[in-house]
Formats: sequence, structure tokens, C-alpha cells
Amino acid sequence: IDTGPLDVISAGLAEVHRLLLPLTDGEVASYIPKLALADPQDFGLALVSMDGHRYQAGRSAVRFSIQSVSKPFVYALALAELGLDEMHRWVGNEPSGDAFNAISLERGTGRPANPMINAGAIATTNLVPAGSPEERFARVLDGLGAFAGRRLDVDEEVYLSESASGDRNRALAYLMHAAGSLRTEPRAAVETYFRQCAVRVDTVDLAVMAATLATGGVNPVTGRRVVPEPVAVQVLAVMATCGMYDAAGDWLVRVGLPAKSGVSGGLTAASPGRFGLACYSPPLDPTGSPVRAVAALREMSGRFGMHLMHAP
Ligand code: GLU
Repeated sequence: IDTGPLDVISAGLAEVHRLLLPLTDGEVASYIPKLALADPQDFGLALVSMDGHRYQAGRSAVRFSIQSVSKPFVYALALAELGLDEMHRWVGNEPSGDAFNAISLERGTGRPANPMINAGAIATTNLVPAGSPEERFARVLDGLGAFAGRRLDVDEEVYLSESASGDRNRALAYLMHAAGSLRTEPRAAVETYFRQCAVRVDTVDLAVMAATLATGGVNPVTGRRVVPEPVAVQVLAVMATCGMYDAAGDWLVRVGLPAKSGVSGGLTAASPGRFGLACYSPPLDPTGSPVRAVAALREMSGRFGMHLMHAP
């Protein structure tokens, strides 16, 4: 019998999966009509180690649109180009304590509080340097693919569904443009952001993406450097303080890992120098985070001593 680390990790994921599959609380997001069609029973878990081993449990191969889990990775791509000081002129680093879609811009500067709320993400996407919106989206898609270690594509139906129902995000883009905190034309800016949110991934992709931040910017599966090490560190810091919407403080206390969730049900978390972890389960709690994923991460953090503030 092999009792190496592979078996221990796989067994741990399988057990947490078994434990939380019966949890049926929460509602599948419906404000983007296409997301309402997700299967609430889908539940996948994946962990990727620093040497690129992929461990998984449940329906980890089901594909879904990445939604807000894209935000830290696109922030990383923009940060690698601009540097923190220039980035900070456009998008802040402070937890807003507001919901993901809040109409909240800093008084005076009109700057979004952080890159993890929609306003900040729309601004960030449009800081990725490019000569046209098409070129910008191509760079975003390539960059997300470099984090995941494979070429990704767009769920066109999700994109069209969000674009048709995305007036709130459109309003945010126009507000920022009026305040001088959005560098590009708002109409195209928001479509690029919608396409980014519709990029299709599975649970393993999200775990590889988190693991790429956890190594300091090198994808542990492909061996390719995606962003410089200081950028990976800065992104993890922003995920730790702002990644979990208005529940970010409670998350850091209870789970203790930088993380980002999205309204389609994805959640990714990173333990620097140790692993990337991801979960997919569509039903959401009132803050917009996937119920089973939050429970799974709490369970694993406690069981396996994953909390960052935990002495090694
Ligand atoms: N595309 C979604 C929106 O902008 C993303 C929100 C999320 O995943 O939190 O509303």
C-alpha cells in the first residue's frame, strides 16, 4: 500500500468532499441568466503542489465561467506591466467592506477601493496595455491561460448573457470614466471585462492558477514564469485582505489563506510555498461566495493546519 503524500492528500480531499456533498444551502446566481442553469450538485475539489502534482476529488472536470476568480490574475498581469505605484494611482489596495457590485468609488479621486470589487476589476482589466480592446482581451486570455497552464476559451453564451444583463457594471464603468479613473472608453471597457468573466475553466485549472501565485509566479505544471515574484506576493496580499468580498475579514480569521471566489461557484486559495487549492460548487451564500467551497476551505484549514498565521 502506498502511504506517500499523494495518498494522504487525495484521501483528505475525498473525505472533505464526502462530508460536504450533502450540504445544500445557498442559491445558484441568477442575475446573469445563463448562470442559473448550473447544476447545484456539481462539487469539485483540487489541490496542486509546488512540484506540479494535481490532486482532485468529485466533479473537478466540470467547466464553468471563471467570473470574479479572474480578478486577481488579471490584476497580476496589469501589475506586472505598470508596477505597484502606477497601479495605485488608478486602483487602491483597501478592503471596501462593500458587496462585489457596490457603486463605491473613493471620494476625491474617484478611484475604486481595490481590484477585487467589480469597479476595481473593470479598471484593472483596462490597464492591461494594448492598442485595441481586441488586443487587450487577447492578452488577458493568454495571461489567464499561462496561469492555468493550458489555452483557455470563452463561453460565448455566458458572455452574451452577462452583456445583455450587465447594466450595473456598465453604470460603474461610466461613473469611473466621468471621475477620470477609467483609462479607456467605457463601452468597450466593460465588454472586455464581461469576456474575461466568461473565460471557461475547471476546478483543476483554478488550483493550478493559485499554485502559480503560491510559487512566486512560476506555473508549477509548465515550469513557465508568468509574473515576477514581487507581483505574485502583492497579488496574494490583496487577495488576503479583499478577496472574499464583504466577508474578507471573517475569512482571514477562520480560514487564513489568500483567496478569491466568484458568482459561478468557483473559489481559489493559495498557501505561499505550499500549494494552490480550488473548489467549485454553484450555490452561493448571501455575500456571493459558494457555500460548499467556504465550508470545504474552513474544514481543510482546521484539519490540516493551513492557516497562514499558524506557526509552522
Ligand atoms: N461577472 C460578474 C459581475 O461582474 C462577476 C461577479 C463575481 O463573480 O463576483 O457581476
